[in-house]
Amino acid sequence: MPKVLDPALKRTLAARIRYYNDLGIYDFYRRETVSSQTTIPELPDSVIQPEQREEMSPRRTAAAVRTTPDESTLEVVTNKPEYSVNDPVKALKIIREDLGDCTRCVLHKQGRKQIVFGVGDPKAELMFIGEAPGADEDQQGEPFVGRAGQLLNNMIKAMGLEREQVYIANIIKCRPPNNRTPEREECETCSPFLMRQVATIKPKVIVALGAVAAKTLLAINDSMSNLRGRWYEFRPAGARSNDPSWTSAKLAVTYHPAFLLRDPRQKKEAWKDLQMVMKELGLKAPAKSVE
Ligand code: URA
Repeated sequence: MPKVLDPALKRTLAARIRYYNDLGIYDFYRRETVSSQTTIPELPDSVIQPEQREEMSPRRTAAAVRTTPDESTLEVVTNKPEYSVNDPVKALKIIREDLGDCTRCVLHKQGRKQIVFGVGDPKAELMFIGEAPGADEDQQGEPFVGRAGQLLNNMIKAMGLEREQVYIANIIKCRPPNNRTPEREECETCSPFLMRQVATIKPKVIVALGAVAAKTLLAINDSMSNLRGRWYEFRPAGARSNDPSWTSAKLAVTYHPAFLLRDPRQKKEAWKDLQMVMKELGLKAPAKSVE
């Protein structure tokens, strides 16, 4: 059996699993034998166009595959080692150890200095998810520590919170060369670890920072203006919490801080998104806007 799944098959299976997860079905069992020509229906339009950032208009793609599921398929849904651990600090450590000195995608040989796992309160109610580490993050091993990170810190402060009270992570954990947009395959390879972090932290609210994070998390290909300004129910695909009372987070989309640095006029809009989040979390603002 092939060790590495065809990316199109992986996408199709992830969508199928999400569909079952949405129905409340998490446990899957392997049959003794599988037919050699299983047809998997065409997927809804897909996830992410690497070249699209922020306000660029949507493009549509579709993936249809005809192939045979193999054993590795089940990795997506079988119990993960952290499920039996109740302390989220320990559970996150297990996920980090599982990630190891990751060589699962090409980024490990394209100049990354270190893996940028995530930082913050392991029991945070609010989680921010960005795109990928940049040079500063790669250097320091922590997400959002450069200029965009300073602005994110200000956004968090404006919400009446400290950086240490939230959890911050990225869709991918290694810096892409020259800060290029992550490839879809890199997102798909890396994001299962993020899904496990989310299921461990069990946030009430997730804020997707920018188009790459929003499109990857939501598996929706749409413009930022369409994606913003509403709530989504987010279930981490392929991962679940060991706490049965947590099945999903509410997810909001806002502009990436790096985009706001390039176009500060959009800060007003970002502030509206954050106010929506604050209302949901019952937070009172000490400041009037994002500076
Ligand atoms: N941009 C991101 O998306 N993430 C970081 O960690 C830093 C910059």
